[in-house]
Amino acid sequence: MFLRELGQSVTVLSGVGRSIAERLARLGISTVADLLLRYPRDYDDRSSFVPLASFASSERVHTIAEVVDHEWFGFARMRTLKIRIRDESGTAILVCFNRPFLEQSLPIGARAVVTGKFQYRYGDIQSSSFEVERLEGESAGVSAILPVYPLTEGLQQGQMRRLVKRALTEYGMRVEEELPPALRERHGILPKREALASAHFPEDGRRLEEARRSLIFEELFYFQVAIARRAMRRREAEVPRPPVRGLLKSRLVERLPFELTADQVKTSEEIARDMGESRPMSRLLQGDVGSGKTLVAFLACLDAIEAGGQAAFMAPTELLARQHAATAARLLEPLGVRLAFLSGNVDDAARPPLLAALREGRIDLVLGTQALFSEEVEYRRLALAVVDEQHRFGVLQRLALGRKGSLPDLLMMTATPIPRTLALTVFGDLEVSTIRTMPPGRKSVVTHLTKVGNEARVYEFVRGLLAAGRQAYFVYPLIGESERLELKNAEAMAERLRTEVYPEFPLGLIHSRLKDEEKRRAMDDFVAGRTRILVATSVVEVGVDVPNAAAMVVEHAERFGLAALHQLRGRVGRGSDQSYCFLVYADGLTADAKARLKAMLASTDGFALAEEDLRIRGPGELAGTAQSGYLRLTIADPVRDARILETARSEAFAIVEADPALLSADNAVLREVLERANPFADAPVGQG
Ligand code: ADP
Ligand code: MG
Repeated sequence: MFLRELGQSVTVLSGVGRSIAERLARLGISTVADLLLRYPRDYDDRSSFVPLASFASSERVHTIAEVVDHEWFGFARMRTLKIRIRDESGTAILVCFNRPFLEQSLPIGARAVVTGKFQYRYGDIQSSSFEVERLEGESAGVSAILPVYPLTEGLQQGQMRRLVKRALTEYGMRVEEELPPALRERHGILPKREALASAHFPEDGRRLEEARRSLIFEELFYFQVAIARRAMRRREAEVPRPPVRGLLKSRLVERLPFELTADQVKTSEEIARDMGESRPMSRLLQGDVGSGKTLVAFLACLDAIEAGGQAAFMAPTELLARQHAATAARLLEPLGVRLAFLSGNVDDAARPPLLAALREGRIDLVLGTQALFSEEVEYRRLALAVVDEQHRFGVLQRLALGRKGSLPDLLMMTATPIPRTLALTVFGDLEVSTIRTMPPGRKSVVTHLTKVGNEARVYEFVRGLLAAGRQAYFVYPLIGESERLELKNAEAMAERLRTEVYPEFPLGLIHSRLKDEEKRRAMDDFVAGRTRILVATSVVEVGVDVPNAAAMVVEHAERFGLAALHQLRGRVGRGSDQSYCFLVYADGLTADAKARLKAMLASTDGFALAEEDLRIRGPGELAGTAQSGYLRLTIADPVRDARILETARSEAFAIVEADPALLSADNAVLREVLERANPFADAPVGQG
């Protein structure tokens, strides 16, 4: 649609010179297509006029007026223009602070649409905060509903409107229709040209709805085509499946000091079933913090190994990867599983033999960070890739997954539940397994909110726990001092807690700026109980598992997101004794911060909290999606537009299944969507 015809620089539009082009570039707009695809962020409904005379009773005036007079007041740089205007109800003054140019653009006798707040001052009805749009030729001002665009310095709303209008008149007709007509008819989708024009300059509210729905449908449809293509390729792929009897698994289960929970058994069976199918597995295992996902993943690894393959287990941080490696050493090595650890920090001497062992198949299970999937790492037969806390990974790592040998089975794990609609959009072809129950005997963590100033009481309470032999985390938003923010930080508080508050208990400090060696020591000391207090930043947020820890104190809790707070609280309550979480907050909470803290108090259920988080933050900013950029949609929002998504999805799958030719069709929209959706859409399959 856009690429060739409308891919020209914005400078082809009349009135766009170098300086305007530069300003547009700051908004990420360089071509005509960019301009047309920059949909309004909002609309200003001016469909009903409010005359000047109603200024006192109405929030704002919105009228068509004539310029009667210009007058200047003040001196030198303070010189300010006053424009007297008149509509059928009366006259008023526009006070044009910093807008001397209005003298030229609104000459006496001109007619204009004026919108703004007016007050009675110095004997006149006046306004200094108004928008004015001259009525003439190509002015956009007459439209009843006006688009509101994101702006940048030196670019006015009116200017932006005129540019888009121009782009629409000069180039809009060249927009080609690419959605199959039958599909459009079935769902009442407007022709693309019309949808585009009405999304920018809607004739009325209903038309705007129609236009937006059409564009949203189109975008989600192509997105789902990308997902469907991927699903098809997976379905057609064949993985050799030597028979597996689950012997290694049974041996591990026998050796465990506890029974698997019912949900661990269930999810583990779902995974085993997938791993018996001819196509590769693509499964998301979700379960709240502490629900025992690691063990389920290890069971899957054992099946892969028993079948003669290798397994790779990736964690988002070195800290967590090391912890998993230690657990694997404890649980799996006794079964004869050959283990290795690989991260960016494995030193140069140790590296080559390790890589050779992986290449030659002398290692069964390798645990590590994203280094596991870097260019230099080759596997003899990678059968299963486990990705822990997958919501923390960007696209690239997942892309890299696709390149390693034949298609491996993929098991992603997350403690941040993904709403079904999002799972559908992003992971169209991903199966989901859920652990809902916790291991038995867990007591839910008791949570207290404490206002800053009262933390001494918290410290005293924690002293009691420490004296009883338990351990505690203290978490801070900053590592060290900050010039801009006056917040408690981990370094200073570690010092204070060590010398003043708890001189009787050994204390460790961990944060991301420490050397890896130091980090490892700090963590090991805490795990082994050599230190009783661990002062930290949010590096301890994910995965860390120390069952003897009974207190989590988060200071400046108002600075943490809800998902982070829930993860932090999940560090305690891992044993059978009662654990506590203290959220210490500062004065002057924002409404959102207050809502987050309240939610933490109200629930310990990760699924409920994830929903609450969504409500507080609003759709479109789901955990990890916006930031990691794997959903770059221009107008659709998979949560808000869930219903359209489902329709678009079933159409896309039906079409791709019926007409595989679409897989290679030279369809510009599809290509563009794929480009945007990539590397996500075609990874990790299809390149193996
Ligand atoms: P997460 O799902 O957050 O990754 P982990 O896998 O870290 O949870 O497990 C949390 C803790 O629960 C670990 O100490 C683990 O050994 C323990 N655990 C796992 N499964 C069970 C079970 N069935 N019964 C008792 N404890 C279990
Ligand atoms: Mg975990």
